[in-house]
Amino acid sequence: MDKLSYVSDSPTSSWTTYLRQIDRVAPYLGELTRWVDTLRHPKRALIVDIPLQMDNGTICHFEGYRVQHNLSRGPGKGGIRYHPNVNLDEIMALSAWMTIKCAAVNLPYGGAKGGIRVDPFLLSESELERLTRRYISEIGILIGPQKDIPAPDVGTNGRVMAWVMDTYSMNQGTTVTGIVTGKPIHLGGSLGREKATGRGVFMTGREVAYREGIQIKGSRVAVQGFGNVGSETARLFTEAGALVIAIQDHSASLFNDNGIDLVKLFSWHNRYRKIAGFQGAQEINTDEFWNIQIDIFIPAALEGQITLERAKNLDCKLILEGANGPTYPEADDILNERGIIIVPDVICNAGGVTVSYFEWVQDMASFFWSEDEINLRMDRITIEAMINVWNKSKEKKCSLRTAAYIVACERILMARKDRGIYPG
Ligand code: GLU
Repeated sequence: MDKLSYVSDSPTSSWTTYLRQIDRVAPYLGELTRWVDTLRHPKRALIVDIPLQMDNGTICHFEGYRVQHNLSRGPGKGGIRYHPNVNLDEIMALSAWMTIKCAAVNLPYGGAKGGIRVDPFLLSESELERLTRRYISEIGILIGPQKDIPAPDVGTNGRVMAWVMDTYSMNQGTTVTGIVTGKPIHLGGSLGREKATGRGVFMTGREVAYREGIQIKGSRVAVQGFGNVGSETARLFTEAGALVIAIQDHSASLFNDNGIDLVKLFSWHNRYRKIAGFQGAQEINTDEFWNIQIDIFIPAALEGQITLERAKNLDCKLILEGANGPTYPEADDILNERGIIIVPDVICNAGGVTVSYFEWVQDMASFFWSEDEINLRMDRITIEAMINVWNKSKEKKCSLRTAAYIVACERILMARKDRGIYPG
């Protein structure tokens, strides 16, 4: 296999994590193994310079990316991340996880991802708008409603997606709602999109908990991350009778043995954009957070959180990966050995892209569905995909992650094989 010249082989890089996940699925792919190197090579990667005139008149340059990992099954799909640690390696891995995710759930998409190496919280609203519009103009040569459709990710939201839609539309000379998903409802967005990722984490988690004999009612839950995904997942688990006893975000780790009052935490968070300082729980340190005795752990922040050391100590029965790539491969092995069940990111957090798919379909048809219709269809797709992966893991006697990769890679590589190599 040819190693790519433009990525590091650091063992902690996200792309390395992804490659090791592919190594693990390869032995299960039979005749399709001949095509598996396709998945180790992103189809396209674009790096762009984004010059930005700041409000104070100075000029700053930011690095932006859009990677299309694989387009065998359809247009590229995947979010746009604004975070100070964004780099090519990370965006490549995130785009590859989108390829696997869309195939695991059987959405007619390939995988893509983009991002800017920037801390969005340090920019004013108008700086953020100019940054977004220039970035979209720069990647305009790659994206399109039939080519590659962006969406929100860490550090971006509906407001940013509205600028994405407008910038692309201005350059086309016509309104193109299907260029991006996760838009505000009045601009062609879909009901249910914002809460869809958290809903999917809950639905897949509940399904697996039921099959493993783990009670949700009365269970002790810890959540890492209180953004779009973590907060909605925590809310749904509380609604189902679980006790969310610990929550961590960039500002603090909170603990309350009787369960954190989420209604109060939401109003605190709406006001201060962080959980630190909330009075309804005790502040603990990071090590304590990782050692609490719980039933369900939900990493819903960034990649590379569950290290080998943390995997040895984590005291839980079930892990629901709301984030993309939170678990290192060697930590995965330890958790599997310890009998801790992991619902992997590529199925656990696929609710977001599933409703993105509905949004895109609604935009194409200019015909919009009710929230009940959306939730019903989403639940059906999510649960069917979860059961399919579950059955595959029993059949092959492997982890849910490897099973999800088997299901997804078979679909992707079958398409790759039957399309063939052009020119032949
Ligand atoms: N950024 C989200 C993810 O990682 C959603 C992508 C989308 O909706 O296209 O799945």
